[in-house]
Amino acid sequence: MVKVLLIEDNPGDARLVAEQLKDVDSLLYSHAIHHVERVRDAVRLLSESHDFDIILSDISLPDSSGTETFATLTAAAADLPVLFMTGSNDEELAMAAIKQGAQDYLIKGRMSGDALAHAIQYAIERKKSQNEMNKALLEVQESKERVRSLAAQKKQLLTLNKAKDEFISLASHQLRTPATAVKQYVGMILQGYAGEVDHNQLKLLQTAYDSNERQLNIINDLLKTAQIDSSIYQLKVADCDIVQIVQNVLHDNEPTFRMRQQTVRLDGPSECVVRIDAAEMGLVVANVIENASKYTPVGKNIHITIHCSPKKLRLSVRDEGVGIGPEDQKRIFDKFTRVDNVLSDTVSGSGLGLYWARRIMRLHHGTIAVSSELEKGSTFTLCLPR
Ligand code: ADP
Repeated sequence: MVKVLLIEDNPGDARLVAEQLKDVDSLLYSHAIHHVERVRDAVRLLSESHDFDIILSDISLPDSSGTETFATLTAAAADLPVLFMTGSNDEELAMAAIKQGAQDYLIKGRMSGDALAHAIQYAIERKKSQNEMNKALLEVQESKERVRSLAAQKKQLLTLNKAKDEFISLASHQLRTPATAVKQYVGMILQGYAGEVDHNQLKLLQTAYDSNERQLNIINDLLKTAQIDSSIYQLKVADCDIVQIVQNVLHDNEPTFRMRQQTVRLDGPSECVVRIDAAEMGLVVANVIENASKYTPVGKNIHITIHCSPKKLRLSVRDEGVGIGPEDQKRIFDKFTRVDNVLSDTVSGSGLGLYWARRIMRLHHGTIAVSSELEKGSTFTLCLPR
């Protein structure tokens, strides 16, 4: 059922429209006409109920005509199609209304019932697709605005992030200079450069020296974090032998392994050259191997394997340590994350090592991953393109 709001001041014309449409009505398809004589009555009706499918209006009405009628009707019901009926001498008025968005006009007396029914049907369909197009355009416009606002937010966040990095870097530099001076002067007194130091003084000075060392370590950690977080940080890459880097780390940590009675096995080729920043990669490898030792009880084993294929390097460090639960595995690469375990009270750490490791691996277009089982041990795997 097509619901038509007919605005026609001439009762004869209104009757004719009703009869013509009735003639073409069938079981499947019919028209329900609501007739008013004035635009203001139509507007009142539209404000009360809004279930019409189309407005069919005479172009010249006693209270309004042409474009003015169209503007009033669209203000009342923007999504309804408007079809005008004209006399033979007011086609110009109808054309002006069409330019504004009216669907069509029909000349009274020259239209058959069929033509009128078709015009109504087409007008409804056309308006429907126009409404859908307008909706889609609006959505495109809205998403463009969203993208613009997200881009502005991103820019603002990047600026803030840069300001934060600069602040940490500047503050750390400013803190490092006096802390380094304290280290040097207290160190000189401890070594006897300022005269003899008695046992009590030595103990107090040593405590001051150790506290200052801890402070310097924290400052250095913050500086390192600011450095690798910085968007302008550049790796110094060159061809380097990763096996050599691993061996250096093992050599540096030899006393720790001996003290913890841990055996370390290294399997793999005698050489594997990759394009990396040797200092940064050394930091990653050292962190993973030192963690394997730190979080593994005395007397257990650590197994390092290097696979070197033409396209890829894979280095894994497997330990028989305390392991990491599934939920904690998801966050250990986040900044300042330390997980409580039976050994974490006895070993020191900042919770930054694995954060740096992931950042450095990403800067190398590589990955770091963990697989672990509580009380069984963990395997950390580094992959790098060659
Ligand atoms: P840190 O060792 O300084 O605390 P890391 O970022 O290197 O910081 O490691 C984060 C946390 O991940 C550690 O506190 C520890 O709980 C856990 N972890 C890292 N490596 C291992 C490992 N091999 N076995 C068990 N837990 C580990």
